[in-house]
Amino acid sequence: MKKIIVIGLAALLAMPMFAWGPEGHRVIAKIAYAYMNKKTIKQVDKVLGKSGLVFWANWPDEIKSDTIYPNSFDWHFQDMDPGLTDEQVANMLIDYPTVGGNMFRALDSLAALLKEDKTNFDALRFFAHISGDRYCPMHMGHLEDKGGNTIKLKWFHTPTNLHRVWDENLIDYRGYSYTEYAQLLIDRFGDERKTIEATPLEELTVNNYHITSAVYAYQELGDTNTYHYVYRWKDTLDHQLFVAGVRLAQSLNEIYK
Ligand SMILES: [Zn+2]
Repeated sequence: MKKIIVIGLAALLAMPMFAWGPEGHRVIAKIAYAYMNKKTIKQVDKVLGKSGLVFWANWPDEIKSDTIYPNSFDWHFQDMDPGLTDEQVANMLIDYPTVGGNMFRALDSLAALLKEDKTNFDALRFFAHISGDRYCPMHMGHLEDKGGNTIKLKWFHTPTNLHRVWDENLIDYRGYSYTEYAQLLIDRFGDERKTIEATPLEELTVNNYHITSAVYAYQELGDTNTYHYVYRWKDTLDHQLFVAGVRLAQSLNEIYK
């Protein structure tokens, strides 16, 4: 019995992960609720249930390996080559890349589906989740290392990988509940809300790509001190979570106006 559990756990740890972790998606959803207008909240909660954005925040990850949406695995990320120009990155929002993820196309398609039918339960759940993935730096990682999944690291002596560091380790290290974390980010960055809303999507996407590139460059330094990693990146992580929450609210306000 013990052996089976150990083997099961090993298989789980070996599985590549492709998403902000559960806490990150809940934080983003909670921030979105703070910035959705009343009409939007009413309609969204009618489809998803009260606080449904939070409740369903991780559903798309949970069904990723299921057969009900066999293609949805690719919707959570968009791999990008190193060294792209800003223009090349921005163009990907129009000329969707055909390899290494399908995030941009999926988001546009889901938004279009929702505009057609605002009560589309699955489209709303997917849209809310993947809107968050869009601002996770390692969801625009390199194809060759599966968005950092094959870059092995130690997080305070525990084996992990670069992708998981960004999806979970850095977030979980903070030790906040998702409500505390969301409130802290609203208090800290709330003044930037209007600026973030007014920033073109292309610019936010390019910015995320620049962060991804900086994260990869930091790996080259070979600094294995986890405390250094936290100090270097926690503000960047916090800001991306906030941007994701603001932009999710903005998109839903637009769809449900
Ligand atoms: Zn995801």
